[in-house]
Amino acid sequence: MKSIKKKTVTVSEAAQILTSCKRVALFAHKNPDGDTVGACVGLKLILQKIGVFAEIFCDSEINGKLLRFEEARAIKNKIDDKYDLMVAVDCGDLFRLGNFSGCYSDFDETLTLDHHGGEYFSKYNCVKNYASTCQIVFEVADALRLQIDEVSATYLYMGLCTDTGNFAHNNTDYDSFSMAAQLFKYGADIQKVYQVFFRDVTFAEIKLTARVLSRVRSYYDNQMYLLYVTKSDLDELGLDQSVTSGLVRYAIDIDTAKVGVCIVEYLPNTFKVSMRGKDFSVRNVCNEFGGGGHVLAAGCLINGFLEDVIEKIVRAVGYSI
Ligand code: 5GP
Ligand code: MN
Repeated sequence: MKSIKKKTVTVSEAAQILTSCKRVALFAHKNPDGDTVGACVGLKLILQKIGVFAEIFCDSEINGKLLRFEEARAIKNKIDDKYDLMVAVDCGDLFRLGNFSGCYSDFDETLTLDHHGGEYFSKYNCVKNYASTCQIVFEVADALRLQIDEVSATYLYMGLCTDTGNFAHNNTDYDSFSMAAQLFKYGADIQKVYQVFFRDVTFAEIKLTARVLSRVRSYYDNQMYLLYVTKSDLDELGLDQSVTSGLVRYAIDIDTAKVGVCIVEYLPNTFKVSMRGKDFSVRNVCNEFGGGGHVLAAGCLINGFLEDVIEKIVRAVGYSI
């Protein structure tokens, strides 16, 4: 990576940087969620209103839920044109840009808009301790004194709603509700966002959930529960890994759980680990495997055979439970 002087910028400075450009490339992180896509599309629409051309890129397929929202279908996975600025949206680590990490780090003018607080990798870094990156985009619109239309409002609500677990996670605060109220006033389709992200499931997903729950394992006097999804589970049901993101909730929701884990075999013998805690730092456990996240919600990647990976995780949790 080039050695550039990295700066922290405020939301209004980020807004000024964005408006001084003619063409902006926005990057959603790999395995995109509602916040990265909501913030990218929201920002793209806002920039278009002030005559700045913006295009969104992502090094992953956009999953079925996100594709229910029309503007998300225009996200590209190849970059060829010239841009004045590259923006990493909702992305705390450069590697989460996937194949775009290389062209991003070679570019001189880069801006991060994020709420994770990882290492700074852009020239300009607007990183806030907010519940969602969409809140930063909402404030960019405010700094530019732009009225948010109903389409942008729906996308900004998408990120706010999904990253707060429909206003239930402990990152939900006064600003989340205040922003939601304003987005509601601007015409956000809150019913559609809730239905798509929190209710709709396919028949194959229900079958996967049944299969995964039927083999839940418990450890340490029922203080830890673990679920696993193998690649053949997904292949047999014709599903991809994006459908597994909510499964860990079943493990942590059990009343005696202090730790809930769901491991998903992304590639043969490569497991994506999702951990959740109640009064227990799962971040510390994930750090041991080179991962990270928040105190009560964290993740990591572990290579190995299924039973070996499970044993490693169970042992690591055992040191601090
Ligand atoms: P999830 O379990 O929903 O995938 O992730 C929970 C939290 O942990 C998210 O904030 C996510 O950014 C973080 N996280 C998940 N996997 C990793 C990882 O491999 N490395 C790091 N640093 N953070 C992760
Ligand atoms: Mn986010």
